[in-house]
Amino acid sequence: MLLGDRNTLYFHRRAVNRKQRNKISTLKLSDGTWCDDNLTLQEEATRYFASLFSKDDTPEEPFPSERSFPTLHDHLLCHLDDLPTDDESKRPDFEVSSAYSHILASPWDDKDQIWDLIWKNTVPQRVRLFLWLTCRQRLMTNSERCRRGLGTSVVCPRCHMADESVLHTLRDCVESKAAWMQLLAPRMREVFFQLDLHSWLRCNLSSHVALPGDDIPWRILFASLLWQLRKNKNDLIFNNLPPFGWICLNVDGAVSPSTCMGSVGGLFRDTDGRWLLGFNKLLGVTSPLIAKLWAIYIGLKLAWDNGFEYVQVQSDCLEVVKLIRDPTEACNSLSLVRAIDLYRRKCLVTEIIWTPRDANKPIDRLAKCVNSHLFDVLTLDEPPDYLQPILAVDISALHS
Ligand SMILES: [Zn+2]
Repeated sequence: MLLGDRNTLYFHRRAVNRKQRNKISTLKLSDGTWCDDNLTLQEEATRYFASLFSKDDTPEEPFPSERSFPTLHDHLLCHLDDLPTDDESKRPDFEVSSAYSHILASPWDDKDQIWDLIWKNTVPQRVRLFLWLTCRQRLMTNSERCRRGLGTSVVCPRCHMADESVLHTLRDCVESKAAWMQLLAPRMREVFFQLDLHSWLRCNLSSHVALPGDDIPWRILFASLLWQLRKNKNDLIFNNLPPFGWICLNVDGAVSPSTCMGSVGGLFRDTDGRWLLGFNKLLGVTSPLIAKLWAIYIGLKLAWDNGFEYVQVQSDCLEVVKLIRDPTEACNSLSLVRAIDLYRRKCLVTEIIWTPRDANKPIDRLAKCVNSHLFDVLTLDEPPDYLQPILAVDISALHS
């Protein structure tokens, strides 16, 4: 304040200067032309980032990498779980293993900034982002979900033998380990599986050594396999099954935008994902939140009627999950919340967790395919025909 207005002027100039430097005024479009029209720039940026975070694996072109990204094709992926043949086991240094020995044995600089290794790796930007999230332990594992208050169990849903951490998922869990074991020489396995997350990433992402007969550096192959393992893990997440011995109740509520009429759907499945009982019901005019609460209430009532004792309720609505988990729910102003609480205290052992919307697709369909003249609860002992295609995709992801 001693400098009066000049003080403010200094910071104002700094801010203006920075704003000018950060501004993108021109972009080269995919047809090779340059564009400086603001509206087109906005659309291009939106399209780029929408594509970057989509599930589509097609590389974004032009890509900010020096070379195309190597992918593991299906005919190779199906061999990742194969055990080495007798012949391979007898040869202690079969090609890939010996190459990996060389890779791990090659010196790697402890002072390498791991961030540089990630951002300079010549892989698609989405893979770099994934590596960055991996390094920061921000992947949505059960450990991370519990840390954020979204889950109740840290146990790995695939092997049930350890906490589901980032390192466990990508390296130590049964299928991931089998994949890595195909590449590792026996004498290197101990080191590979003992490194902590940062050392493991730094060691592998700093290697420029290529496998025999190939000019792709190990750091790219390593990132590629990590990406594939992460995709396999997500397939499992979309089939978010409950702990052994529990029954899973997925619920959803929908409200028609045109009529404001609500409907609910739910599905009970066992630990292996098998259909136990489905239901849907038409509600009157209601809101999405109330519809989702109705779905839980009706589901718990059916659980009670059918003698299901250990029930894990899965909803894709975080607000509902928080409402039900609230320890003061017994005196909540919403009568449905209080009614749900009564059921939970009555007899059942229940827990409620949030699940991604994609995992709830079959239930969303159940809720929307309700009989528009019937207000009774309709129970389904077998999956209806209209759900067969969705369930087939669901089950193939579970067993892939
Ligand atoms: Zn596991």
